[in-house]
Amino acid sequence: MLSWLVKLTFLGAAGTVTGSRYLLDVRARHILVDCGLFQGRKEIRQRNWERLPFDPRGIHAVLLTHAHVDHCAFLPVIVREGFSGPIYATPATIDLARLVLQDSAHIQEEEASYANRKGYSRHHPALPLYTAADAERAMERLRPLGYREAREIVPGVAATFGDAGHILGSANLRLQIDGRHRISVAFSGDIGRYAEPLLNDPEPIREARWIVCESTYGDRIHERVSDFEPLANAVEAIVERGGVMVIPAFAIGRTQTILFGLRELVDRGRIPMLPVYLDSPMAVRATRIFGQHPKDHDVEARALMADGTPPLEYPDLRIASTREESEAINKVDGPAVIISASGMATGGRVLHHLRQRLPERRNMVVLVGFQADGTRGRALQDGAGEIKMHGSWVPVRAEIRTLPGFSAHADREEILRWLRGFESPPNALYLTHGENGARTSLADFIRGTLGWKVHLPEHLEVVSLSGEA
Ligand SMILES: [Zn+2]
Repeated sequence: MLSWLVKLTFLGAAGTVTGSRYLLDVRARHILVDCGLFQGRKEIRQRNWERLPFDPRGIHAVLLTHAHVDHCAFLPVIVREGFSGPIYATPATIDLARLVLQDSAHIQEEEASYANRKGYSRHHPALPLYTAADAERAMERLRPLGYREAREIVPGVAATFGDAGHILGSANLRLQIDGRHRISVAFSGDIGRYAEPLLNDPEPIREARWIVCESTYGDRIHERVSDFEPLANAVEAIVERGGVMVIPAFAIGRTQTILFGLRELVDRGRIPMLPVYLDSPMAVRATRIFGQHPKDHDVEARALMADGTPPLEYPDLRIASTREESEAINKVDGPAVIISASGMATGGRVLHHLRQRLPERRNMVVLVGFQADGTRGRALQDGAGEIKMHGSWVPVRAEIRTLPGFSAHADREEILRWLRGFESPPNALYLTHGENGARTSLADFIRGTLGWKVHLPEHLEVVSLSGEA
């Protein structure tokens, strides 16, 4: 049937912000766009363990938009289950994905061994979702595809990445499908911010019959990224009361923007110099990789570099590599700043910093990234009086501040700006990668302002992209 020549299946990020996986079937060819891990609430995370709704051995190619866990960290599973084709990604994404996959495998192995020690798993022994060896095999499949280079990834289907401006190496994607009916499909990836100091603006895609677009902040308007005043105010408050500021931050993306902001504020004399502890080995490596891809920086970052001011070099940065160095930070007295992962306080070293600092009023937790439903970060953001960590309840007396200006995701106006880059309306726009409130609100807004046909796909929904709308 002609109408089923091209179909799209929403295997994740439909009604949630995690687990981005889209399967595109073009005649007998099968292409997967992103292969992310589900995170957040237990019933969502459980999907990582369910039987796959497709056969990985039948997938011909994977296109990876960027190196965040919720877009790439399920790759080791499909490789272990028999996927043996290429995984296309930009060169910077490949460098970062290696880091993320290694780290993610490590976390999976730790969780399994912890469950075995504590005996709380239903399975004996508890097995990790995947191992470091599985991650290693997934990395071997990564193939570079630069921005704006069209590449025929399977016969009759050409893929082109554009700069998404979300994190280093991040991409949006346009697929051109040849045949009796030429069809083009656009994937927004995660859309970044306009006028961000380190990265380029999100690049528009001019034409697509079908668009799949994220909606993380579809119901909100952010502050400008280059406005570091809210950060300066938070630092001033912490200096005044001699407290410690803990910033749970995604190792890739947010950490670099915060370092940039702090350095800017010190250089301008806006805040006094105080020690900044970077306690995330992955963030340290990601910061180094950032320096290795100057082509992907925006003009402002490049100008600083040329000027002899490395944009991410905060003068009093103290790096904790070992576990001992990390634990030693517990003894640090304020004022000081601690930046540590994970960004939603779901795991990682930031937990012991929170446990140490949350009970005291003079301290502050600054939330700079999206906090998914069901995470400790979201509980803090929502004003929880205590949160559970390592089996015990920790009282929350520290001040909790959210600085939405640091978000790596476009707000509603910025998503609209990106969509306006298309020269004509698509047959349909599918909104994904957002909680239902955000995407419903965005859908109404788009219908009202652009008059487009907008659809909110359900988990595992299949749509036909052939024929006429
Ligand atoms: Zn992302």
